[in-house]
Amino acid sequence: MFPSVAATEATSEPGRDVRTGLDPASLMQAVCDYLYYFQGRHPATASRNDFYLATAYAVRDRLFQRGIQSLDALLHRPDGRTVAYLSAEFLMGPQLAANLVNLGIHDAMREALWRMDIRLEDLIEHEVEPGLGNGGLGRLAACYLDSLATLEIPAIGYGIRYEFGIFNQQIRDGWQVELTDKWLHLGYPWEVARPERAVAVRYGGYTEAYTDEDGRHRVRWIPAEVVKGVPHDTPILGYRVKTCNLLRLWRAEAVQTFDFEAFNIGDYARAVEDQVTSETISKVLYPNDASPQGKALRLKQQYFFVACAIEDMLRAHLRFGGTPSTFHKRWAAQLNDTHPTVAVPELMRLLLDDHGLEWDDAWEVTQKTFGYTNHTLLPEALETWPIDLFGALLPRHLEIVFEINRRLCDGIRRVYPGDEDRVRRMSLIEEQGRRSLRMANLACVGSHAINGVAALHTELLKSQVLSDWVAMFPERFCNITNGVTPRRFVVVANPGQSKLVSETIGDDWPIHLDALRRLETHADDPGFRARWRDTKHANKRQLAAVIKDRTGISVDPDSLFDIQVKRIHEYKRQHLNVLHILTLYRRLKLNPDLDIVPRTFVFGGKAAPGYHAAKLIIKLVGATGDLVNDDPDVRGRLKVVFFPNFSVKNGQAIYPAADLSEQISTAGQEASGTGNMKFALNGALTIGTLDGANIEIREEVGAENFFLFGLTADEVRSVKASGYWPRAIYEQNEELRAVIDLIASGALAGGDTTLFRSLVDGLLWHDPFMVLADYQSYVACQERVAALWRDPEAWSRMSILNVARMGKFSSDRSIRDYCERVWHVGPLGAPTEGAP
Ligand SMILES: *Cc1c(COP(=O)(O)O)cnc(C)c1O
Repeated sequence: MFPSVAATEATSEPGRDVRTGLDPASLMQAVCDYLYYFQGRHPATASRNDFYLATAYAVRDRLFQRGIQSLDALLHRPDGRTVAYLSAEFLMGPQLAANLVNLGIHDAMREALWRMDIRLEDLIEHEVEPGLGNGGLGRLAACYLDSLATLEIPAIGYGIRYEFGIFNQQIRDGWQVELTDKWLHLGYPWEVARPERAVAVRYGGYTEAYTDEDGRHRVRWIPAEVVKGVPHDTPILGYRVKTCNLLRLWRAEAVQTFDFEAFNIGDYARAVEDQVTSETISKVLYPNDASPQGKALRLKQQYFFVACAIEDMLRAHLRFGGTPSTFHKRWAAQLNDTHPTVAVPELMRLLLDDHGLEWDDAWEVTQKTFGYTNHTLLPEALETWPIDLFGALLPRHLEIVFEINRRLCDGIRRVYPGDEDRVRRMSLIEEQGRRSLRMANLACVGSHAINGVAALHTELLKSQVLSDWVAMFPERFCNITNGVTPRRFVVVANPGQSKLVSETIGDDWPIHLDALRRLETHADDPGFRARWRDTKHANKRQLAAVIKDRTGISVDPDSLFDIQVKRIHEYKRQHLNVLHILTLYRRLKLNPDLDIVPRTFVFGGKAAPGYHAAKLIIKLVGATGDLVNDDPDVRGRLKVVFFPNFSVKNGQAIYPAADLSEQISTAGQEASGTGNMKFALNGALTIGTLDGANIEIREEVGAENFFLFGLTADEVRSVKASGYWPRAIYEQNEELRAVIDLIASGALAGGDTTLFRSLVDGLLWHDPFMVLADYQSYVACQERVAALWRDPEAWSRMSILNVARMGKFSSDRSIRDYCERVWHVGPLGAPTEGAP
């Protein structure tokens, strides 16, 4: 008998060498052990990376200990349900500090390292994050894993272990330059490879029908290519709980390292080729945010991780006594956008072909297993795959999709006889142009629950993009507003504010974020407001130092930090922000003695490498900085910084230092946003449109504590419908005209009048994102911001009230909503009301 895992901690007593103790002495021992016996290093010659790795391994032991206990608990719950979160992206961020905080040993580890003359902060700074996501969608998946563990819900995140994550962004001469992200370069200590749990993934080939022993018609798939998926597990510990879940990412490998036949006849190159093509599948993350590229390799990636995940789930289910027809009773699988939607025909295929279920039974299991989260309203972002491409790669899945579609269309015709337009709209197949498979429709038909990610987004989904689906399956739809984890984005990122809040209202707020309400009464206490300001100022000084280090630009921590960090996209309207900066600049040029509020404008975010308009916006921000930063008439009152390589790690330094959060997308475009929540939780006030979760943030914090401007989603629609003429707005608004003319004049481009021409012409003649329509309202709103800034007491009061009322936006609340409305699962996997 092995001693139980729990026992190792129960016997911890002073002076005893305990493998997983949490006191400084045990931690120091553990770090030393790893340094000596695992890495073979002498402390005198060990590098910072050596100490980082040793520290990470020591922490990982303590995570695994809890992981084994969690699995043990699950095995004793035969009726439990586990959540499988299927996502092509997980933007996890750095792990060391977050794990120390969740374990409750941040101070103990600092002490342990200090005894060895090592600063924990240096190791945290040294860590490279796995950038396995583009932005909001991937970060949401990471926040949800944190909350699932914290709420003690058994869960696995399934995704792809990209060898190269999102590119590293450098700025050269104002332009974005992409560098490959070598996050595995110095070793990634948080994961464990499990080659013995590998899964075979098939592609291509053909299918053939046959009759089985019972005389039933069956189909088998004869693939042309087989690739191996090897799982790599990262433990995901909840905050101050024992539950430790798993992120299981799959790496593609060749089934055999060499094709020996080719090798023997001397064709070494071809032998290795196979290995190279197999490994290509998990080689690199596609760097496009919210606009699919339609590349065959991307479809291969999607099927790769989905096939691995479903096989893994089914295996576990069968091993622990389940049968194929009870799969949905043990697993609730969530599709994070349409990227994993091929899971629907994949589960059908396994149940039908491998396990011999009848169609209706297999379909019931499948539908009860999946939920689908939609993330976008942009029509160009709705994924489709050309039928020929899909069929060549997944011939059996295409047959199954056709049969799902036949039944779907029959069903539509029964409910709406003669409405062939509706059949065409809801069909899984787009027949216009190159025939293609509509992944959102497949996700809708294959799921028992469909949700949008903010109230407005869900309403627009229901009234526009998916209205036919609501008409036919109203019971499937619900809204689940996004959230963010207050552990990483407040406790870890903003220790100053966290300490002040805990001293004031107690320290349970990280797991009961509504408790922040207790801050409300303190908003009227001048002493508290002063401490609140001091905390923010310290964060701003820190960010100023980082900005100086990364960009060489000096910024004044006393100025208003006005920040927009997020992917660069026309719909997010970074260029609207620039128009405001140039408006202020021009006012100062006309009247250098004008009394304006000194501001530091910080931008950050990556542009998709092929998205030229977005890259030009980056250049425009840089050019604006060059124009403004050293102009003697400005006298340091305006600074413009482009902070390179926005990432989770950089975000953790930026969000806590913001005074003003820019959430200025065209209404009806941003599904939810989560950056808006991170800023507000760190005490920034928001200037924003009625878009995404901004609406709910404003409802929570109060309209009087939110800087609102711009057209509503309805107004945007009606202005567009009745004919929108941006040129007329330009003609009629003198300040706007002057600013646009300034850009067109070449004054920001060393006299080159062509550089920004596409941007200027786009705004004047098309302006699909209504930048000019919202300009005046935005500039006027920024004047209200400036007026409030001149009253620091009023500003601080509003900042405190914002934080106090942001409790709704914890990802814990989102996960509770999913558990109740979609997954029907409780802590430790207990089924709840509505469980299948
Ligand atoms: C939160 C986050 C995002 C999403 O930001 P939005 O403002 O919601 O678009 C993108 N990237 C990173 C690194 C983040 O942490």
